[in-house]
Amino acid sequence: MAPNLVIVGAGLVGSLWAVLLRKAGIPVTVFEKRPDPRKANKDVGRSINLVVTSRGLYGLECAGLLEEALKLTVRVKGREIHSRDAHTVFQPYGQANECNYSISRSALNHFLLDAAEAAGADLHFDHALDSMDLSRKEITFSREEGPRTVPYEFLFGTDGAGSRVRNALTRFPKSEIKDSIEWLDADYKELFLPRGPQGPLLSPEALHIWPRGSLMLMALANLDGSFTLTLYMPKKGSGFSFETVKTQSEVEKLFQTEFPDALQLAPELIQQYLGNPQSSLGTVRCSSWTSHHSVALMGDAAHAIVPFFGQGMNSGFEDCTVLLEKYQESKDWAKAIEEYNETQRPNANAIADMALENWVEMRDRVGDPAFQLRKKVEWLLEKNFPEHFRSRYAMITYTRTPYAKAQAIGRKQDKLLDTLCSDLHSPEDLSLEKAKSLLENRKPPT
Ligand SMILES: Cc1cc2nc3c(=O)[nH]c(=O)nc-3n(C[C@H](O)[C@H](O)[C@H](O)COP(=O)(O)OP(=O)(O)OC[C@H]3O[C@@H](n4cnc5c(N)ncnc54)[C@H](O)[C@@H]3O)c2cc1C
Repeated sequence: MAPNLVIVGAGLVGSLWAVLLRKAGIPVTVFEKRPDPRKANKDVGRSINLVVTSRGLYGLECAGLLEEALKLTVRVKGREIHSRDAHTVFQPYGQANECNYSISRSALNHFLLDAAEAAGADLHFDHALDSMDLSRKEITFSREEGPRTVPYEFLFGTDGAGSRVRNALTRFPKSEIKDSIEWLDADYKELFLPRGPQGPLLSPEALHIWPRGSLMLMALANLDGSFTLTLYMPKKGSGFSFETVKTQSEVEKLFQTEFPDALQLAPELIQQYLGNPQSSLGTVRCSSWTSHHSVALMGDAAHAIVPFFGQGMNSGFEDCTVLLEKYQESKDWAKAIEEYNETQRPNANAIADMALENWVEMRDRVGDPAFQLRKKVEWLLEKNFPEHFRSRYAMITYTRTPYAKAQAIGRKQDKLLDTLCSDLHSPEDLSLEKAKSLLENRKPPT
């Protein structure tokens, strides 16, 4: 008889994992704390979106869902940087047809739940994991109608950044597993830019960024021509911060000083700021994602990261494809989860670090002419020498190069870019011969 596999948490990662298991012919039961979001959608009228890239797309492809999922997305081809005087600069992300895909988080979750159900996953909503007995392999849920205890043989914790499953792994008697949450010194608020009477108010093909040093506004298109805006700002501090921007006049001053063009497009941003919640961002690390040869953490439960590389969900989807590959090699879950733990944890630490670095890049450096020159040089190297050069951004976003490897190659490439850009005033002055010789004389990125 097939082992009793249980998933706790039917967010983005848990629901994709359920589809992948079912498509591989493996029975699975899923428990989710919330009511079925397809029936009780709290996000109606608001669209919180995120970006899907190579690793996420691969997960969807393995589940046989790519074509249908792409119909829910908007193609995003680069960054558009907005300066205070409303001047804009477009920086393409990749080469040729390479792009990122913006998708509504709730639409994707509903789509994956539908797919999991259609594939035969046994879904149970309104089941909040309360406690775990790792030795007896039992979990207890709290429900309106009273607690319910369920046995499992293998359990996958996909219950998000505040994971109860992770909590159980770090707190059982004599546990040597340690976790940590490093909070970012900035929080965020989500805002909304409606579609204009004549169409989208910004170009839908770009991720819009208003970099302002210690704070940043971002806009990402939705399928209907509206945009989700995210304002990232320090929690505290004497400049603009969530502590100092509270009243209507303080919010008006913030937008008039830093984002006057955005305010002109949607004066209602002020009221939205005053009414919408302020949320925190953090990096979760855990010294092991597995325990008792029978439990594995996946997605944010194992490795929540800050969103500045757009890789949180993408890396969670990669957890699913890697773990399934490991299982298919050995047909032994205990072995597969140990191998997954060994392979993926260093990669998760690498993308966590790179996402934190990108916070500085996005809020501060993208508007700097020297940075923009460097990006153009990078783009020219990729275009002219595709055999020899892929930027770190492209490796993370358009390939499935392991994150830790992309990080290591990126460090070497930084030195090369330092050399090429040191005496450069414009991308037209780049000597392709010098670049070629430097690229050919270094060890190829393996
Ligand atoms: C502002 C912002 C922007 C982002 N942008 C991007 C982006 O562009 N690209 C990207 O790849 N990622 C992005 N992310 C990250 C992405 O949202 C997460 O990585 C992703 O949602 C993680 O999915 P998950 O399934 O692991 O966790 P979650 O989506 O948090 O799902 C966890 C599920 O577990 C359930 N649950 C919780 N506790 C229990 C319990 N006790 N019992 C049962 N069920 C439980 C929850 O109800 C939920 O359904 C962004 C994040 C933020 C905050």
